[in-house]
Amino acid sequence: MPELPEIASRAREMNQHLSAKTISGIEIFQPKSLNVPVDEFKTALTGAAIRGAAHHGKWIIVDTTRGWLLFNLGMGGELLLVTRASLPEKRRLIFDFSDGTCLAVNFWWFGYAHFARTGELDRHPMLARLGPNALDLSLEQFYALLVGQRSTVKSFLLDQSHIAGIGNAYIHDILFLARLHPQRLLSSLSSAEISSLYNAIHQGLEPSLAKGGAFYETDLLGQKGRFLLQDILVGYREGQPCPNCSTPIVKIKTGSTSSFLCPTCQPKDLL
Ligand SMILES: [Zn+2]
Repeated sequence: MPELPEIASRAREMNQHLSAKTISGIEIFQPKSLNVPVDEFKTALTGAAIRGAAHHGKWIIVDTTRGWLLFNLGMGGELLLVTRASLPEKRRLIFDFSDGTCLAVNFWWFGYAHFARTGELDRHPMLARLGPNALDLSLEQFYALLVGQRSTVKSFLLDQSHIAGIGNAYIHDILFLARLHPQRLLSSLSSAEISSLYNAIHQGLEPSLAKGGAFYETDLLGQKGRFLLQDILVGYREGQPCPNCSTPIVKIKTGSTSSFLCPTCQPKDLL
């Protein structure tokens, strides 16, 4: 599932490669991924010139002269800049551009392509629920978010309404880098531990962001991400030695999800 490094990379690539292109036509093969009727979506965005792209959490936000075009890849998918002659086999939407290129969009399972009118982005119900981007917070803002929170550190970081962009792939290394057990209660964290957690969010996401995201996702030009399996510290490494102390990494159940951690570096006894 794409998380902040992948989504921010796609937004960066779209900003670089799609800016100034004009949408000349739209084909929709999965109307359920839209938030408005097909005709309204096409009428609204055909003729729109792209001004740039950014992201908020797992949403890619494309700024056009006719309003906002929003993508959420859900469990994963591809956004590919191609031509009609090189269309991928799987596509749920195609945006043709006036220069002869097109953006082919595929969702592996289900995703969204939404439209929001100019000036109405903050009324989009799914975006409005998101907390700030995980890498855009200051340490002071991060402290403020944690005040009065009663949840565990893992469930807090995964709740997109608190902080947007962290999911089940990067959470393990973030908590390992912070030397925190996933089930530590936020109310038990010292100031030093909160600072480490803040730094760990950056240390856990930025290397992948710098490499265009994880190896299992594809970029706008069809290349795989350069953040590889061997770049992961403890996530999905059950039984392998901790890179810090060599204790075997364990996999435990935390609520409905699994956690990978080093039982020595991330003790639970401060619960
Ligand atoms: Zn360890």
